Amino acid sequence: MGKEAFVTLATNDTYCRSAIVLAQSLRNCCTQKEITILITPQVSPEARAMLDKFFDQIFCVNVLDSKDAANLALLKRPELGITFTKLHCWNLTQYNKCVFMDADTMVLTNIDELFDHQELSAAPDAGWPDMFNSGVFVYEPSYETYMALIQLAEEEGSFDGGDQGLLNTYFNQWRTSDERKRLSFLYNMHSTSTYTYSPAFARFGKDTKVVHFLGQVKPWHHKYSAETDSIQQMDGPGIHEQAFLLQWWRQLTQAMKQFQDSEKTSALPQ
Ligand code: UDP
Ligand code: MN
Repeated sequence: MGKEAFVTLATNDTYCRSAIVLAQSLRNCCTQKEITILITPQVSPEARAMLDKFFDQIFCVNVLDSKDAANLALLKRPELGITFTKLHCWNLTQYNKCVFMDADTMVLTNIDELFDHQELSAAPDAGWPDMFNSGVFVYEPSYETYMALIQLAEEEGSFDGGDQGLLNTYFNQWRTSDERKRLSFLYNMHSTSTYTYSPAFARFGKDTKVVHFLGQVKPWHHKYSAETDSIQQMDGPGIHEQAFLLQWWRQLTQAMKQFQDSEKTSALPQ
């Protein structure tokens, strides 16, 4: 078995905080895999110092500065900036297999069994279930695949303007592929489904393995009081399941405390 890792992405400090919750949730569920993050130069040194404590590896990708073919393609299609950044995950060829997870996901149970699946395994998108949602997917790093994706992006663009459209065009056999590549929705349970299909959530929700806070309203948009351990949701009720939001905020609070404690320890005279 080669090296394997969970991989996420953060292009700014806000997404870094969410990525830390993801890493913390993976560790709380006793993952045996490495946890890796791709960042861009917009991430502040302070946020980077925090990431150091929670990730095994940090890779800074600077698409605009390098002079490779991918970069030329990007310059022609600047609107695909963040999409191209996510594609960089295929360049992590020091790993044989990886599971990419959006920074706005959180795991509720150990999901290391995902590494038994092959490229490209993913769960359906709730908005269009013939497509996979690109917030959680199993893949095999390869420079050739990376270049093929870049070429496709350059030639055709992405029909939805993001990585999900592009990846579904490239891996278009997913819908008719072996059922092991079609992961259960429980591996990428869209937090919005808790109210768009609440009876299904009531019936199956207890088996959720990964919550994905997709959409415009993210956990950090709600107010959390550590004193009372409660959430004040914005945008009216029912946007996110309260229990998941609480879990997200508790893990952020736990991670921040661990970070502060470790800073205090390292500041002590040796
Ligand atoms: N992302 C990022 N910076 C951004 C937007 C997105 O780093 O400004 C990364 C992050 O990992 C995020 C992923 O790209 O989880 C996809 O974006 P998002 O989760 O916001 O999209 P959604 O899942 O809501 O469609
Ligand atoms: Mn997402």
